[in-house]
Amino acid sequence: MYLYNSLTRKIEEFKPLKPQEVNIYVCGLTVYDFAHIGNMRSYSNSDFLKRTLLYLGYKVNHVMNITDVGHLTGDDDSGEDKLEKQAKKTKKTVWEVAEFYTDFFLKTLKELNILLPDVLSKATDHIPEMVAFIKKLEEKGFTYETNEAVYFDVSKFKGYGKLSGQKLEEKLKGAREEVYVDPKKKHPADFALWFKRIGRFANHQMHWESPWGEGFPGWHIECSAMSMKYLGQTIDIHAGGVDHLAVHHEDEIAQSEALTGKQFVNYWFHNNFLLVENQKMSKSLGNFFTIEDTQKKGIDPLALRLLFLQTHYRSMMNFTWDSAKGSNEALNKLKEQVVMLRKQTDRTTLSQEKYKKIEEYRDRFIAAISNDLQTSAAVAIMWEMLKSNVPSPDKLDLLLEFDQVFGLKLAEVEEEKIPEDIVKLAEERQQMRVEKRYEETDRLRKEIESKGYTVEDTPEGFRIKRLK
Ligand SMILES: [Zn+2]
Repeated sequence: MYLYNSLTRKIEEFKPLKPQEVNIYVCGLTVYDFAHIGNMRSYSNSDFLKRTLLYLGYKVNHVMNITDVGHLTGDDDSGEDKLEKQAKKTKKTVWEVAEFYTDFFLKTLKELNILLPDVLSKATDHIPEMVAFIKKLEEKGFTYETNEAVYFDVSKFKGYGKLSGQKLEEKLKGAREEVYVDPKKKHPADFALWFKRIGRFANHQMHWESPWGEGFPGWHIECSAMSMKYLGQTIDIHAGGVDHLAVHHEDEIAQSEALTGKQFVNYWFHNNFLLVENQKMSKSLGNFFTIEDTQKKGIDPLALRLLFLQTHYRSMMNFTWDSAKGSNEALNKLKEQVVMLRKQTDRTTLSQEKYKKIEEYRDRFIAAISNDLQTSAAVAIMWEMLKSNVPSPDKLDLLLEFDQVFGLKLAEVEEEKIPEDIVKLAEERQQMRVEKRYEETDRLRKEIESKGYTVEDTPEGFRIKRLK
């Protein structure tokens, strides 16, 4: 298996710490709003990675967090807590906001057939771990305290900037002046580990006791604390959106490695952005589509998966409704193939040539996914295989095997049950057709169509299909 590592900016051979076992941490959602199409792509991509590892025979230990406190509207510790802001807007408690959007997020993952993590950890369930973490950093001299917060002092950590490749001086230039920043903060890249319930946060609903007074954790500390609690001081893979690389993940590295003196993550896996109809997603454009929005337009969530497979995870993807519809049709074709292949059960003894062909398709598939998840190539190999002269039962076996990575639930495809009255009408129509009573034949076809079905005449007889 070869994976691109954002830390080294190279494709590297993947070598887990323990043979055949992978510890993976995926940055979860901040639950202040609906999971949208960009999130759907991101979590589908980390799911393709997980499924690939499983398919290749690794045991996967997967942890994902839910950020329900401390994520401010500005990544530079400026602004308000995203959840508190939404609570004010909707006149709900922060806890209600968190629960509501967590449920929606989990429902979205389920619809997309994303394998759930072994541990789903909420930030608010891990305050003691975070406080202990910060205390240790304090003891080691990596922090300083102001009236408003406890900060991580980036100047004390030598490796700061190694993930993004940005120098500290560049970060200084990037500091914004129009937003409120704690005047006692020494460097713009220093980041809050703990916010006190003071000043702009005097009315913060979520707060806990700590050695630095009542308050709440900063955003980044949760991922380090939870990753270490469940997966150990050094993990194999940490996945997340590329938008988190420069601040969130850089800060995770700094605080984790300051604490342990060991490398925090061996492979950083970053998803690229998604555009909607060539535009950046934004509130004002109203293009933050949710799973429900796509379902209302008749798009099967699994067709979205198939669509996501077509763009490499490190490339920007442009989502369009046309491409989603196209993918829906492709998925339907795939399902029809499954139904058809299932009926052709005669398993003949394989000729040497056909046996070789099957092996070749499997090898090419493995080569594609093992090469930094070349998913679109893997999908192309699947279509090619389906068109080949490989015997049907073997085709079906191979298709279902590939689907362990694609996750399109092809093994669960059921042949659509046609209601009995429709079958009767079709049989009657067939009889009329044989008797060349075309007026009757036509009338019966219209009747069938008025009930949402259509009938096709084939050399083997008639075939009933549901009208789309
Ligand atoms: Zn994170």
